[in-house]
Amino acid sequence: MNDVTQLDSHVAYCGLDCSGCEVYQATTFDDDDLRQKYADKVLEQFKVKVEPATVNCFGCKDERPKTGYCAMCEVRKCTTDKGLENCAFCEYYGCEKLQKVHKAMISVGKAVDGVASAHLNLEAIRQENGLA
Ligand code: SF4
Ligand code: SF4
Repeated sequence: MNDVTQLDSHVAYCGLDCSGCEVYQATTFDDDDLRQKYADKVLEQFKVKVEPATVNCFGCKDERPKTGYCAMCEVRKCTTDKGLENCAFCEYYGCEKLQKVHKAMISVGKAVDGVASAHLNLEAIRQENGLA
């Protein structure tokens, strides 16, 4: 049995901790049961059919292809274009683009998860770096 609590955190540009994401977990453990579980969840919640074999992501900061929303994320593009570690360091922190992504995460049950609380992670980074 894979233990997700053993995964190191991987804080994304938007603040999401990828270690709390089912897609990242399925990929890291190369676990087809987790891939199927994720595909079932997406079908049930959003009526979207996902091929389990395509459920793969090595984390936001990894260059390899991503699944679902992260594959076309504007925040990732914006942050990398600016050469920032994440949105916490941006002069436009809290911009509409970032808020839109956070709202989308809440609707798919990611950002409300304690492990993956994107907004809180960015706030903590800002505090630590004297930016808040
Ligand atoms: S929503 Fe965007 S910034 Fe956040 S984890 Fe996905 S690709 Fe990365
Ligand atoms: S403009 Fe917004 S999305 Fe882009 S890096 Fe800054 S805070 Fe992040």
